Amino acid sequence: MNKIGIYPGSFDPLTYGHVDVIRRATHLFDSVIVAIATNEAKKALFSKEERAELVRASTEEMDRVSVDIFDGLLVDYAAEQTAKAIIRGLRAISDYEFEFQMALMNRHLNHEIETIFMMPKDKYTFLSSGMVKEVASLGGDISSFVPEPVLHAMNQRFPATNFKSDS
Ligand code: ADP
Repeated sequence: MNKIGIYPGSFDPLTYGHVDVIRRATHLFDSVIVAIATNEAKKALFSKEERAELVRASTEEMDRVSVDIFDGLLVDYAAEQTAKAIIRGLRAISDYEFEFQMALMNRHLNHEIETIFMMPKDKYTFLSSGMVKEVASLGGDISSFVPEPVLHAMNQRFPATNFKSDS
């Protein structure tokens, strides 16, 4: 049976923390769908199409990873995709309360879909898309935090930076 895992999020933009979770998930699932959430309430730096393209370009070498954009209820989307589980990343205790609430709500909405939490490599536990955007907007070097395609896109958004990829 083809075991599908869905990794939902804003990915605005994708960081090496996300990539670490995606890679770990490919060891557990036959295929992993990175699902870009359409959340109009959150003001995004990149459009959902741009975010999807950056994930695609950054995960090119990973077999069995696909990228999609979804709106509406996550559990409905997951059921549509016949996914077994929702994958989320856990960095620190601060993620826990929100993630716990969301996992229980999603289970209430559809008890057939499990939520699985994965911890990134310790060097990525402090990393967030928000932090990367803030550092880049102030001219800081984010090259060790994001894949090359994201770095390129961020350099275009924040021309003062222009750092080279270190990977
Ligand atoms: P959301 O807006 O849904 O929180 P994000 O793109 O910020 O979307 O994150 C998507 C998922 O990836 C969340 O489960 C988040 O906790 C996780 N995540 C974000 N950054 C990291 C990281 N550095 N290491 C591990 N997981 C992460």
